[in-house]
Amino acid sequence: MTEQAPIVIVGTGLSGYSLAREIRKQDKDTPIIMVTADDGVSYSKPMLSTGFTKGKDADGLAQASTEAMAEQLNIELRTFATVTAIDAEAHELVVGDERIAYSKLVLAWGADVIRLDIPGNGQDRVFSINDLMDYRAFRQALEGGKRVAIMGAGLIGCEFANDLRNGDYDVDIIAPSDVVMPGLLPPVAANAVQRELENLGVRFHLETVVEKIDREGNGVRLSLANGEQIDADLVISAVGLRPRVELAKAAGLTVERGIVVNRALETSASDIYALGDCAEVDGHVLLYVLPLMACARALAKTLAGDRTEVSYGTMPVMIKTPCCPTAVCPPPTGAEGEWQVEQDGSDVKAIFRGPDGFSLGFALTGRFAVEKQALSKEVPPIHG
Ligand code: FAD
Repeated sequence: MTEQAPIVIVGTGLSGYSLAREIRKQDKDTPIIMVTADDGVSYSKPMLSTGFTKGKDADGLAQASTEAMAEQLNIELRTFATVTAIDAEAHELVVGDERIAYSKLVLAWGADVIRLDIPGNGQDRVFSINDLMDYRAFRQALEGGKRVAIMGAGLIGCEFANDLRNGDYDVDIIAPSDVVMPGLLPPVAANAVQRELENLGVRFHLETVVEKIDREGNGVRLSLANGEQIDADLVISAVGLRPRVELAKAAGLTVERGIVVNRALETSASDIYALGDCAEVDGHVLLYVLPLMACARALAKTLAGDRTEVSYGTMPVMIKTPCCPTAVCPPPTGAEGEWQVEQDGSDVKAIFRGPDGFSLGFALTGRFAVEKQALSKEVPPIHG
């Protein structure tokens, strides 16, 4: 390592670009190299599940070209460059045959989609959408089609279902759970979202799984464990994400569910940091935008020499199901207490109260979703 080696950031998603922006707010000149496996186009990932509603295709969702980002941020940008290893001792990043020296290395390389190994010859019609390039491929494959089957009833599956209905596609959702978004919403709120999606025309096949996907004409036929068959033009797989930890683990960094970092975003190796979907920050794996923005602000200060710990406030999540606007701030895992529910049809206000009566979380649907800001003030911050 030399004093002159650049800061190297791996990943040009919201974490990587937010961090580069934060660094540049205070330091215009320190050399920064950004390395990314994709095309480096800047976009907001949450917008991927709003394309039809907003009338935008992949190009419409792109916010800035790679060249524009490199210029705007005064950075060197390496695109289609997949990191293959980290040599922590030598302070070098390995990209195939090339070695890139770093003074500080930031891992912002996100999470991988979980892929199910389902039998049948229809796998080439199954799409996972976790970046803009995936979205482009999906939209191209959908041209001329009308029917989409979605595996998974989590946040992403439900958002795509609503968006595809807004684009007038037929939508079937298949999932093993008995409610939508289990683990994120209490059943009363989950049922409200499901009901409104059904009113919009989404068909649910819950408590079952896809056992086989076969080609059928230009599309596929899905065989479900409950005996049903569904014909579709293509399939979205939205069954979950897993922080990318393998390369970090191989380099000797401590990993658990994500790459383990403390509140200063420091990994177990000196001069290596992590944030975003790949990171487990002080025990929290939060695959959302608000946490990564807070991390980017803190880490930029640390990299400038002012070691700063991130402090997570309350982190409500808006679920982009316009047929049933939903906001949720889940209570801490294992928290003692109970849900208190006020309900008017699909308008649900559920507040999770601890034994002392204080609010520890909430789920709001329909007309109650606007109360998100006010209720967020009552919930203690994650880092209290
Ligand atoms: P990513 O955006 O995944 O970026 C990872 C980067 O690392 C990419 O540039 C990739 O090419 C690069 N990379 C990976 N491996 C390598 C390698 N080996 N070498 C080099 N480069 C590599 N969150 C919310 O808070 N609100 C929402 O409403 C919301 N909606 C969402 C809707 C959808 C459809 C999805 C998929 C997610 C949504 N999220 C939402 C989650 C949020 O978008 C993510 O938490 C966030 O975008 C993650 O950003 P990231 O930069 O950490 O990871």
